[in-house]
Amino acid sequence: MTRTSSFLSLLSESATIAMSRKSRELSKQGFDIINLSLGEPDFDTPDFIKKAAEKGIEENYTHYMAVNGYEDVREAISAKFKRDNGLIYSKEQIVVSTGAKQTLANLFLSLVNPGDEVLLIAPYWVTYSEQVKMVKGIPKVIQTDIDTGYKITPEQLEKAISPKTRLFVFNSPSNPSGAIYTKEEIIKLGEVIKQHPGFMIISDEIYEHIVYVDKNYSLACDPELYERIITVNGVSKAFAMTGWRIGYMGGPEWVAKACTKVQGQFTSGACSVSQRAAKAAVEADPESIQYMVDIFHHRRDLIIKELKKIEGLVVNKPGGAFYIYPDVSSYFGKSFNDWKIKNASDLCAYLLEEAYVATVPGDAFGTTHHIRLSYAASDEILTEAARRMNKALSKLK
Ligand code: PLP
Repeated sequence: MTRTSSFLSLLSESATIAMSRKSRELSKQGFDIINLSLGEPDFDTPDFIKKAAEKGIEENYTHYMAVNGYEDVREAISAKFKRDNGLIYSKEQIVVSTGAKQTLANLFLSLVNPGDEVLLIAPYWVTYSEQVKMVKGIPKVIQTDIDTGYKITPEQLEKAISPKTRLFVFNSPSNPSGAIYTKEEIIKLGEVIKQHPGFMIISDEIYEHIVYVDKNYSLACDPELYERIITVNGVSKAFAMTGWRIGYMGGPEWVAKACTKVQGQFTSGACSVSQRAAKAAVEADPESIQYMVDIFHHRRDLIIKELKKIEGLVVNKPGGAFYIYPDVSSYFGKSFNDWKIKNASDLCAYLLEEAYVATVPGDAFGTTHHIRLSYAASDEILTEAARRMNKALSKLK
């Protein structure tokens, strides 16, 4: 009677959400927890976007709409792709979904057969591997490390491709590492892809505006690759709109049609009011959100400075997004009281209970020696978190 499906057993609970839940529980019990585990901006959605949603309600955008999104919203996204990415996607090539998470689910359901290999670069965003497993695809992981800035080389990509490769998921700037590939690096990866015409590529560019070094360059800009690439984006991160749940894709029309078919049976389309808000967001000059990017940039420098004070922590320098991904392996094998640190999960549990700082173990992102911290928090909170971590970590012997 209480049996759940075998499909469910393929799924792991999102480690980031699990850590956040645990830290909320402890907060409720009165503990002063600093939660650096969740991937969302700490800003409020800008007023001009909220006003567009209010107007949408007043104008009765409250009915079912086309499954792939309102026509004028897809036109606005088409113009955004041209303006920000130099990409030409007609409104028929665009599908608006309930967050980029659903965009990705639509894509995996549309493109992957059981047994197909999907190339992921570790550390990768947790959802990629889970969604691939849900459709019985096989995640094939290409490992990177802090020494190479968590980026793959063309040689690594070449080696990972097999006749079973169906998809390659590329994410720059990356969650969780913050790594951002330069235009030259992306072109070089593109040259490898061209040698192997048998697979499609998802380019997840949801952090495109949150960059501190190179400007984002879209893989689909290469005309020889354009037909094989699906560019995924959304308004959650750059516009502080995580709760509105709007993501979108641009890609070949046959892929857009397939995703629309899937979406038609799952949701019938993304929330009407949120789509009106997202239209205002993508139409806005990216300058209008630069204030948030500037603050993230300042915080990145602050968290690097503070974490570098901690002996044993090897700290990376993210080029984008709002995460930092230090190597914590020097603590493995050390202990304090009853705590024995064998791996990154033990270390995160220790930091939560001893320092009251919530972080996420790298295992969730496909690497074993790291933890992820989000620096979408105030200067005071970040400085205090680093101070507490320093104190707790220095006790490990
Ligand atoms: N892609 C990456 C790399 C992400 O980090 C996230 C969210 O954490 C998403 C996609 C999905 O974002 P949303 O579903 O909020 O649009």
